[in-house]
This record gives sequence, structure tokens and C-alpha cells, in this order.
Amino acid sequence: MVDWSNLLPQGTDFLMEWIAQPLMLALGLGGWVEDSFEACEWVVWGLIELTVMVCLMWPIQKLWPAERASALVGHQKHMAIRSDVIYTLIHRLGLFRLGFFVLLNEPIDTVMGSLHVQGWPTYHLEQWLPGLANSAVLTFMVYVVVLDFFNYWIHRAQHQWSFWWALHSVHHSQRVMTFWSDSRNHLLDDVVMALLGVVIAQCIGVPPSQFVLLVVLTQLSQSLQHANVRWSWGPLDWLWVSPRFHRFHHSIGAGHEFSPGVLGGHNFGVLLPWWDVLFGTANFDDRYEPTGIRQESSEKESYGEGVWQQQRLGLKRLWRALKFKT
Ligand SMILES: [Zn+2]
Ligand SMILES: [Zn+2]
Repeated sequence: MVDWSNLLPQGTDFLMEWIAQPLMLALGLGGWVEDSFEACEWVVWGLIELTVMVCLMWPIQKLWPAERASALVGHQKHMAIRSDVIYTLIHRLGLFRLGFFVLLNEPIDTVMGSLHVQGWPTYHLEQWLPGLANSAVLTFMVYVVVLDFFNYWIHRAQHQWSFWWALHSVHHSQRVMTFWSDSRNHLLDDVVMALLGVVIAQCIGVPPSQFVLLVVLTQLSQSLQHANVRWSWGPLDWLWVSPRFHRFHHSIGAGHEFSPGVLGGHNFGVLLPWWDVLFGTANFDDRYEPTGIRQESSEKESYGEGVWQQQRLGLKRLWRALKFKT
């Protein structure tokens, strides 16, 4: 009988022993073998996520689509979905994590270490809620809530500040939303978000084992939110972000409007709609509008077809936003 509880460590060991280790030795990267164990764990989780997405979310989209006829057809539709698949594979197969780890792990450790030495205060949640350490489930739930609070405000900033919107608009430029669309982001935006995530998690004392689970839970939930499904949680829609709730955030002219210095838009919550309810940005209308960006649908601005074009145009918009401070 399969021992499911051992599947993850076994999968990680298998990847390490048969793929990562020989590859790294062959490339003369023997010194990194120890560190690559963590990367392998991310890859195994990524494979689990991809399996759930393809085996569960894909049939759900077929059965209960939010829109049957999409805004794009033929080659354009194919390209739009293909770029989202590429973004997803870059992220879920650990390529992004690996790059982030190799480039930024040491600088982060150095900065955080020197801050500690200088007496920089920590805000570990266990200091504030001493009973928390007794229950792993309770600790995990509190971390979900606290991190989600930060993510709500980060997401609002992505829409509020023109330089950040220049990058975040890559995510919103998708007119054919599917369960692949969550990872469609500007890579620079991803780096900033990952950096903020690691720093906040370290400041509030999230243990590494729980951090992996938090990321996996967030990613899976977000994939479902972007799926082309006519789903809401009915009277419990305020409890956890549903596909309907997040789709509204993506709708043209309704969910997010950018005008410099003025906040518009609804449903910024990443996992919990609570912050939208609390800060007056929630919208629970049972509407499934076309998604995308107004300038794009009126063909005033192109956000690019393929991944490289989307990345290049994102940097161009960022430059324009910084130069003209629009
Ligand atoms: Zn957004
Ligand atoms: Zn989204």
C-alpha cells in the first residue's frame, strides 16, 4: 500500500538523487548540492499543484464555464493561454524560486542578520500570542490571516502607484482568464513580491516548513480564483475568495480602474475577502464581466502577445511611469 505521508520526502529524495545531484555535479556545481534539496522540495510541491490544476480545475472549467465564448479567438487565444502556461511552469516547477534563491538568498540573510545584530526588533507572533506555539494548526491559521492582511495592502499599492501598476498590469491584461492565469506577472513584480513575502514572513516568525505550505495553499487557491468557472461560495462568499469574487477584480471598467493617484476598484483580497469588507472595497455582485484592461480593449495600448513581449512592454511602461511620474 502507498504510504501517502511519505510521498513528499520520497519524491524529493528521488529528484535529488537521480536528477538534481548528477546534474549539478556534471555542471561543476557540487557546492550547491546541499542547498538544492530545498529547491527539489519546491519542485515536488509544484508537480503536485500542476496535477491538481490539470486533473481538477480543467474539468471544472469545462463543466461550469464563466464565459463560453472568449474575447479572443484562434491564434490570439492560443497565444494568450500559452503565455500563461509558460508563466505557470516557470513558477510551479521551481525555476523562479531557484533564480531567486541563487541571486537573493545570501543578500537577504546578510541584511536580516545585520538588522538583528543592530537590535532591530522582531515581531514574532508567538511573542504577542504566547499560547500559539501549542497548536500548529492555530499558528498556521493566524499566519494565513496576518500575511493576507499585508498582501491586501500590497495589492492595493500595485493599483495605486503608477510605477507598480506599470508592472501589475501584465497580470490584468489577460482577456481569456483560465486556471493558468495566476502566474502571469511581470518577473520584476514577482521578485519584489517574493522579497516582500520572505521579509514579512521572517519578521513575524513563520517557520520554513509552514512557509512552504502557506505558499502552496495560496498558489492553489489563486489558480482556482482565476479559473474560467461560474462559481461563488453563495452566502459564504465573504469567507474565502471565490472565482467570482476575484473575476470581478479583473473585469474591465468595474473591478479595477487606474487613474493616477486615485484608487478605484474592488476585491483586492488575495485569500480572504475580509479586508475588502473592512476597508470598503468589497463587491459581491453576482456578475461575470469580460476581463482585461480598458486601454487594451479599445486598442490604445498593447500589452504584448508572448512572454518576452509582455515583459519588454512592462519595462517600457515602468520607464514611462518613472520618467513622467504619471
Ligand atoms: Zn490587481
Ligand atoms: Zn488575478
